[in-house]
Amino acid sequence: MSDCLFCGIVEGRIKGEVVYRDNSVIALKDVNPKAPVHILIVPIKHIATLLDLEQGDKGLISEIFSVANQLAKQQGISKDGFRVVVNCGAGAGQSVFHLHFHLLGGRSFSWPPG
Ligand code: AMP
Ligand code: ZN
Repeated sequence: MSDCLFCGIVEGRIKGEVVYRDNSVIALKDVNPKAPVHILIVPIKHIATLLDLEQGDKGLISEIFSVANQLAKQQGISKDGFRVVVNCGAGAGQSVFHLHFHLLGGRSFSWPPG
């Protein structure tokens, strides 16, 4: 999608600090980090929200969590705990309508989230 920020980063038209890439997923540093480690894990395929996932995307979701596991260890946040968050819809705070998983760590987190 030409007007989508994350499609633009996936395709290299828009700059992003990409820390991981394979055939189905990229991960990049969030430009406005909410924790010392804040990485966005983004499917290469344009999927607008969590609600737009299809049956055929099951493998993709499994891969995203596998990448989250790998990056959490690599970024040194696995021992102290970390969060993986998806905001679905504007009411939950979603601002970029291309599915992404926030990987957050490096500080303590309160519950419930704000
Ligand atoms: P959400 O609000 O859940 O849709 O998350 C979107 C995230 O994308 C926010 O945390 C933003 O800080 C982040 N963001 C916006 N523009 C960029 C960009 N150009 N590169 C990296 N992250 C971005
Ligand atoms: Zn997109």
